[in-house]
Amino acid sequence: MIEAACHCGAARLTAPAAPTEVSECNCSICRRLGARWAYYSPRDVTLPDGRRTEPYVWGDRMLAFHRCRTCGVVTHWQSLDGTRDRMAINARLVDGLDWDHIRIRPFDGANTWRYLDED
Ligand SMILES: [Zn+2]
Repeated sequence: MIEAACHCGAARLTAPAAPTEVSECNCSICRRLGARWAYYSPRDVTLPDGRRTEPYVWGDRMLAFHRCRTCGVVTHWQSLDGTRDRMAINARLVDGLDWDHIRIRPFDGANTWRYLDED
C-alpha cells in the first residue's frame, strides 16, 4: 500500500500498490502543476475526507482536480461523468517511491492526446 499526502498532511489518499509508471502531461493545467499522475481504479483508492480538499473544474467539465484547502497541494483528479473507471493520484506526494524503477511517460494532453514515447 502507498499513501499520498499533501504538504500539511490534512489530505491523504491510499492506493494498493506503488505505480510502475506515471504520466507527465503537457496540457494547460498539468504543465502548471508539474504533477506525475499514477492511475488507479476509484474502487481501489481511499480518498481524503471531502472537506479537506477543494475541486477545480473547468472547460468540458470532465475532471475535477482536487487541492488541499489548507496547503494548496494538488492531490488527485477524479472523473466527473462517472463512466470512467480511472482516477489519478499525484505520485509526487508519495514518500519513498523508487523513481529509478518507475517509468515516467510524457503524455501529449495539449494536442494529440497520445503518449510521446510510443509511435
Ligand atoms: Zn495540505
